[in-house]
Amino acid sequence: MSVWHKELTTTLLLFILVAIAGGITGWFLQLTLLLTVGLLIYQLIQINRFEKWLSAMARGTYHKPTGVWEEIYYHVYCIRKNNKKRKKKLSKMIDQFRQSTEALPDAAVVLGKNDEIEWTNKAARDVFGLQQTDKGQRIPNLVRFPEFIRYINSGNYTEPVVIPSPVNQYITLSVRIVPYGAGLRLLLAQDVTQIKIMERMRKDFVANVSHELRTPLTVLKGYLETLQDMDEGLSPILTSSFQQMHGQTERMQHLVDDLLLLTRLESQQKKAACVNVPALLGQICREGDTLLTGRIELTIEADSNIMGDEQELRSAFTNLLVNALKYSPNDSIVKVRWYSDQEDIILAVEDQGEGIAKVDINRVTERFYRVEVKRREKVSGTGLGLAIVKHVLMRHDAQLVITSELGKGSCFSCHFPVKRVCH
Ligand code: ADP
Repeated sequence: MSVWHKELTTTLLLFILVAIAGGITGWFLQLTLLLTVGLLIYQLIQINRFEKWLSAMARGTYHKPTGVWEEIYYHVYCIRKNNKKRKKKLSKMIDQFRQSTEALPDAAVVLGKNDEIEWTNKAARDVFGLQQTDKGQRIPNLVRFPEFIRYINSGNYTEPVVIPSPVNQYITLSVRIVPYGAGLRLLLAQDVTQIKIMERMRKDFVANVSHELRTPLTVLKGYLETLQDMDEGLSPILTSSFQQMHGQTERMQHLVDDLLLLTRLESQQKKAACVNVPALLGQICREGDTLLTGRIELTIEADSNIMGDEQELRSAFTNLLVNALKYSPNDSIVKVRWYSDQEDIILAVEDQGEGIAKVDINRVTERFYRVEVKRREKVSGTGLGLAIVKHVLMRHDAQLVITSELGKGSCFSCHFPVKRVCH
């Protein structure tokens, strides 16, 4: 029999007994009322004890209850025991998590809503020179690099920021912020000193090699031109060899020039002056149409000028125009358009060539990437032109958008943000 059944049966029996006693004595109503009040007082006392026990966090001793109250006490006791077990497990998990994050080689700092430090791991204390007592301090007051403060205030954490370590200027850190939870942010810093050193070595190597190749190439080309001038066409094999050698040295010279330009774009300080883009485009188109074929159609719909480096913009725009002419039939039109929409100022170079396959579109801006067909057809090129375009545009906060359809043509557009417009 369940406890509830027992409780009900006992209460019912009590009422029957009282009813019988009431019948015999003639005090039925009085006795029934007495029993009801008695039961009510008993329950009130039990509730009072239970409430006191609960308010003491269900700890300590309690009067041994009977009936259904014993069950209630037992259930609460079980719930408490389970909670205790779960709490122990959770705190063990948190401890393990803390230990693992403490051992992480990357620095981790939990930041609150106002950039205050809530928690740090050992690596963070080491590379940022933070103390355990810095908890609650605002991190911009402790790590005072302007680019770091700008990054933290920007709210745009898609790209990491690279700063030197405040405790050792020879350590380079790549810092990234990951927002999570309600207003919390996790700041992660990775030591990228080795990567940066390797990157600098690669840049220096390419720059030095390209530079050193320049002089021998110029000498070779000079002698070849002299030999070509001296050649009287008596030996067709010699004549064609000279031509091929000349072609290849020119190709190599382009390669070296493009590599040097890329190195400069990667390492040089940005220059900014107001560039008259419509005039620049007019010049480039005139130069591109040396054979006066009339293939280039220039439309200037915006008179906006752009803040930037004229030389860099010239090479980017020239590369796009040369590609459009090179990769489309000799009798097709290439449209060059300078216009603005609601968001950007745009230069679009559109051709009616054979287009680029979808799989290649994302890769054509990679260094030395050339679509296989072009390699096979031996269309001359270095595979560096679009890499240069991408770099120049990056330095001007602009973006390159490529749309292309095989067999129909391609459109390369450079989107400059309005903030770059100047007068
Ligand atoms: P290059 O022209 O010297 O090969 P680029 O970096 O300028 O190098 O271009 C990379 C590749 O992108 C080219 O080899 C070519 O296959 C493709 N490409 C570039 N522009 C066009 C275009 N307008 N139409 C079709 N394909 C193009």
